[in-house]
Amino acid sequence: MKKLEKLYEGKAKMVFKTDSPDHYIIEYKDDATAFDGKKKGTIEDKGVVNNLMSAKMFQLLEKQGIESHFVELINDRESIVKAVEIIKVEVIVRNVATGSMVRRLGVQDGLVLDPTVLEYCLKSDEYSDPLINDYHIAAMKLATEDEMQQIRDMAFKINAFMREVFFNLNLNLIDFKLEFGRYKGKILLADEISPDTCRFWEIGTNRKMDKDRFRQDLGNVKATYQEVLQKVQTL
Ligand code: 5GP
Repeated sequence: MKKLEKLYEGKAKMVFKTDSPDHYIIEYKDDATAFDGKKKGTIEDKGVVNNLMSAKMFQLLEKQGIESHFVELINDRESIVKAVEIIKVEVIVRNVATGSMVRRLGVQDGLVLDPTVLEYCLKSDEYSDPLINDYHIAAMKLATEDEMQQIRDMAFKINAFMREVFFNLNLNLIDFKLEFGRYKGKILLADEISPDTCRFWEIGTNRKMDKDRFRQDLGNVKATYQEVLQKVQTL
């Protein structure tokens, strides 16, 4: 498949058109940003980790009946994906309270959330991904009720599966962000599943094994990303 012009460049990825109207090529970058782009840096080979880990997670999810945009790996940094139309709603799944939920609501960091909390944010760099609810989604015509029902069902199914997968890798899946897209009348899981978009705490020590190492200057960022990938590659 031929890589044609760049369609879009985000903070962590570039999306390219291809000679197939149904496919894009995604190229993962090492650039890292946090706190609304105020903190900028590079995590060496993060693009490789996120590309390879996402590929593995999408393949495992496919076997669980969760369809995603992923088609195949091209190389360490690039994948072919289906040309989905991204729904501008970020879906956050929280099993344990931390991060913005603690800052916003004052709940105890590390509080186990039962039931699991689902949040939606508007996907908008300009407005800093503000929290929205089902009424905003309906009124702003971001997605239909039927689409949101499918998205909710997929998000909880993905959470149940991933919690168990990471538990078996000695990682507690704290929270994560998902994005979905439309493709040929279907809702597909899109974007990526990586230490950039999930929080993992090592079971027993609560060592942070994700982008919080970069956000909070905890050190060993590159090594931790590599460690998570190595675990995932045993699956
Ligand atoms: P929080 O709202 O606490 O900052 O993030 C909750 C979870 O969603 C974390 O796992 C975080 O990595 C992920 N997340 C939320 N918003 C974004 C985003 O805009 N980009 C990325 N990469 N992850 C996000």
